[in-house]
Amino acid sequence: MVKVFIDPGHGGTDPGAVGNGLREKDLTLTISKRIEAILKTEYNNVEVKLSRTNDATLSLTQRTNAANAWGANFLLSVHINAGGGTGYEDFIYTTVGAPTTTYQNVIHAEIMAQIVEVRDRGKKRANYHMLRESKMPALLTENLFIDTAADAAKLKDAAFIEKVARGHAVGIAKAFNLSKKQAAVSKPAPANPSSTLYKVQIGAFSKKANADALVKQAKGKKFDAFAVKVGGLYKVQLGAFSNESNAKALAEKAKKAGYTPYIAKEAK
Ligand SMILES: [Zn+2]
Repeated sequence: MVKVFIDPGHGGTDPGAVGNGLREKDLTLTISKRIEAILKTEYNNVEVKLSRTNDATLSLTQRTNAANAWGANFLLSVHINAGGGTGYEDFIYTTVGAPTTTYQNVIHAEIMAQIVEVRDRGKKRANYHMLRESKMPALLTENLFIDTAADAAKLKDAAFIEKVARGHAVGIAKAFNLSKKQAAVSKPAPANPSSTLYKVQIGAFSKKANADALVKQAKGKKFDAFAVKVGGLYKVQLGAFSNESNAKALAEKAKKAGYTPYIAKEAK
């Protein structure tokens, strides 16, 4: 089981960056919840915990303490940038090596693959609390600039937010080799066993004598044959089943005995 700790940046009394009618703390929570949902519904063997699931005020120490106490395998801190630039970038701790560097490479690539129209500001390093004080590999993502109108317009688009979240989720899944859940296969509606009768027949005659002759012959081959009169025809029947596969099995047997069977379906 892979334990992924997701930290929606800021919250409560700390709105984070604000601009163009957006607050960083709202966006980070929305994105984080979607990452959690995608991981949980689409992948096996993954546990997800969020540092906050609502507009709570949390210190940075509370966040890393929670991740460390839980024993997370990976920490992701989600942020929105500010300062007048444009694009996406992410950070790992200043001096950290593999596997954190590998996770950054994989996750960065998946996010950029989802948001190809966004400027790639690169894979960076920083001495941030969330990266330094967490005991497990950690990545902090800065998802566009809230104070740049073009970036803010994208951040207001639900379809864009979904792509950002999916990039994070797919990247984490790839980094930790999470297997995909089997797509729910819709089962065919169960056949009502009593609704249809499958009749195995080997001949139809206008003359009863001909039908009787075939019945006699079939009985000689150990079939439980009999003739039934249906709509002016005498039909030679070997059996009738509620279960189609039983009818098919008998028809196969009749075929091997040299007959040309057919299965007549009849609603009961
Ligand atoms: Zn932030």
